[in-house]
Amino acid sequence: MNPFSTLGIRHDIVNAITELGFENPTPIQEQAIPVLLSGSNDFVGLAQTGTGKTAAFGLPLLELLDFEENYPQALILCPTRELCLQITSDINKYSKSMKNVNVVAVYGGANISDQLRQIKRGVQIVVATPGRMLDIINRKAIDFSQVGYVVLDEADEMLNMGFQEDIDIILSTTPEDKKTWLFSATMPTEVRRIAKKYMTDPFELTMGTKNTGNVNIEHEYYVVRARDKYAAFKRIVDFNPEIFGIVFCRTKIETQEIAESLVKDGYNADALHGDLSQQQRDKVMKRYRDRSLQLLIATDVAARGIDVNDVTHVINYSLPDEIENYTHRSGRTGRAGKTGISIAIINSKEQGKIRQIERVIGKQFTKAEIPNGFDVCEKQLFALIHKVHQVEVNEEQIEQYIPRIMDEFKDLDKEQIIKRFASLEFNSFLKYYQNAPDLNAPAHEDRAGDRGDRSFKSSTSAGFTRLFMNLGSVDDFTRGDMLGFICNNTKISGKSIGKIDLKGVFTFFEVENAFVDQVQQGFKSVDYQGRPVRIELAGEREGGERERGGERSGGRERSGGYGGGGGYKGRSGGNREGGSREGGGGFRDFSGKRREDRVGGNSGSGAGRREGGSGERRRRN
Ligand code: AMP
Repeated sequence: MNPFSTLGIRHDIVNAITELGFENPTPIQEQAIPVLLSGSNDFVGLAQTGTGKTAAFGLPLLELLDFEENYPQALILCPTRELCLQITSDINKYSKSMKNVNVVAVYGGANISDQLRQIKRGVQIVVATPGRMLDIINRKAIDFSQVGYVVLDEADEMLNMGFQEDIDIILSTTPEDKKTWLFSATMPTEVRRIAKKYMTDPFELTMGTKNTGNVNIEHEYYVVRARDKYAAFKRIVDFNPEIFGIVFCRTKIETQEIAESLVKDGYNADALHGDLSQQQRDKVMKRYRDRSLQLLIATDVAARGIDVNDVTHVINYSLPDEIENYTHRSGRTGRAGKTGISIAIINSKEQGKIRQIERVIGKQFTKAEIPNGFDVCEKQLFALIHKVHQVEVNEEQIEQYIPRIMDEFKDLDKEQIIKRFASLEFNSFLKYYQNAPDLNAPAHEDRAGDRGDRSFKSSTSAGFTRLFMNLGSVDDFTRGDMLGFICNNTKISGKSIGKIDLKGVFTFFEVENAFVDQVQQGFKSVDYQGRPVRIELAGEREGGERERGGERSGGRERSGGYGGGGGYKGRSGGNREGGSREGGGGFRDFSGKRREDRVGGNSGSGAGRREGGSGERRRRN
């Protein structure tokens, strides 16, 4: 008998999930499904993303609801649009062969009329992000009076994003006697509190230790000097030619800059952060899912709900402000039973934070050494050899050239040919890595001598104030356009505007001190292509351009963070490490071209990406 049938799942659903490749239940499914199928318990499941929790609650819902009736019977609340769409799509797949199952995805940033129309037509399962759900409730467009089940998925994330109040209001429209099922990757006191508030005597299931990271994930850290961080990061990537990774930064600025620098250095990377429009984000995510992108550089908020299997590495380019975010970050790898590596690149002063994370996740990090140039060359060489083995030969097309190729090679024996093919790649790596410095921070490093995160504030001209605007070159602005845009909206003469520092998704510009208020007033309710224009004093942004909120701006920041007096959290500094020794030049100004145009297609692996020596490395293909 199929193990899912043994758990109580009926045949047509079992067939559908078998087609999805679900042969055996994951541990959480095995333990949660029988409990939830009884329909008589509140439930708290402590489980990471990627453990199969969508099916753990989705399959029981399909068994428990009455699909002859067409009114909302189950409400699933989750933190992000991506997760909302994922859950909706998963439930639709599980119920492929069932009749009259209507699931609606309700999330912000999309046309509300379509969602209202679907609700009006009749649905049994509503999957929603809290902001948009509340909007629809306020329009009196949905009746939750007969909801029997509420699922709070990634409850810790929803609280993180400041949705507590919205959830309270939404749940107040559902019946008292409904069952509530809460899933969370971590169990901070806030989640404990809502579990208490919304549930009576819940059945509790903990997969692994509380707040523990996935057992399939190995944790490593590298200690480097702050100024070598970018070079060390690239070397780690080069040492892992098959990497398919997510790289976490703390700020939108850092995210954008790292992505831009990587692209310039010939890597297949792009950024995902909250200053991109939804359309831009969807595009980046599609490329990543399709594996046309090898490295996704993301902020914590933007990466929430990302459900991509087979992520090989999570790289903490900067450690998160809050320890729990480390669990969320690393949980993007090691999904669905696969193994994964979570890497932190730190400076010597941050080793204490690693110890704190270890305590929270209940797992030890391994201290790893940044590989030397020779190790990287060797790794790349064998990755190439591996690729030669794996390559699909188009017999039909290549056949016609074989006689000529053989003729060209007739003066070389097999060994010489192999040497030459291998050298095509190997030479450029050897050249690039010759004299490559040791990037590991010396153990005896004077800690005070390592300046750590350096601020990247530029000096502001006397009499001027530097302001931040959330539009930049990706919005098709040139410096001239930007000057015009500022002057038109604020009615300030161009003479009173100083330096304009146009970046990818934002701009810093100077304005005479006397006109700061006028600029802020001028842009107060200005939209640009549907996005509100934000102006802030640059000092605030450069001091740690944190990203907040998800669906809506200004989500509350969580208290907490690393223990030990908050020195870390409150620290200023946008964390821009200086230029790299390798790759020539490190960070650069962004050009006016749209990012999408600059990033090439699938480079597949690290091999074949770069030419040239110590200078710039260019994509060859
Ligand atoms: P989730 O934690 O629900 O996001 O699931 C993570 C991934 O595991 C998804 O890609 C699911 O399709 C997959 N998955 C869930 N349950 C199983 C199962 N029993 N067998 C194989 N894959 C699964």
